[in-house]
Amino acid sequence: DKALQRFLADEAATIAFGHALAHALQPGLTLFLEGDLGAGKTTLTRGILRGLGFNGRVKSPTYTLVEPYVVSNLYLYHFDLYRFSDPSEWEDAGFRDYFNPESVCLIEWADKAAGMLPAPDWLITLAPEGEGRRIHLIANTELGAACLAKLAS
Ligand code: ADP
Ligand code: MG
Repeated sequence: DKALQRFLADEAATIAFGHALAHALQPGLTLFLEGDLGAGKTTLTRGILRGLGFNGRVKSPTYTLVEPYVVSNLYLYHFDLYRFSDPSEWEDAGFRDYFNPESVCLIEWADKAAGMLPAPDWLITLAPEGEGRRIHLIANTELGAACLAKLAS
């Protein structure tokens, strides 16, 4: 299957789904996290990091643009490009180098850097539904589809 969706009743469900995603990740994946402010993008990232065994603080990279993690033999980069404005910043900060076969990149507000990012392997969308959230995950590449298959099995 190339897509799946789930209802996440509360924050704990978002964290738990992040754990499940963590076990399906592999180096080289790029994930776009879409949804309005407060949709749960950073919460899901925290769940993924917890699932990988990271017990430290997971800060929103709202001002730093990126938070790097090394955990469970993975280089994971969590971007939040909400405040990103200047394409030259992308080059100056060397962000291009973060996208490589050894790293997993999770990007909030990827549309702010349109044209500078690779196509996502997974496009993840979070939206409010009642008191909870609806999550949609679409695999856009063969690598993404192979990893999604690991999740479904
Ligand atoms: P974003 O990064 O998308 O701006 P955050 O993850 O920072 O959003 O914040 C999401 C907010 O919604 C947090 O207050 C979190 O507790 C809450 N939340 C996360 N997942 C759920 C859920 N499944 N149902 C209800 N509330 C949730
Ligand atoms: Mg966020």
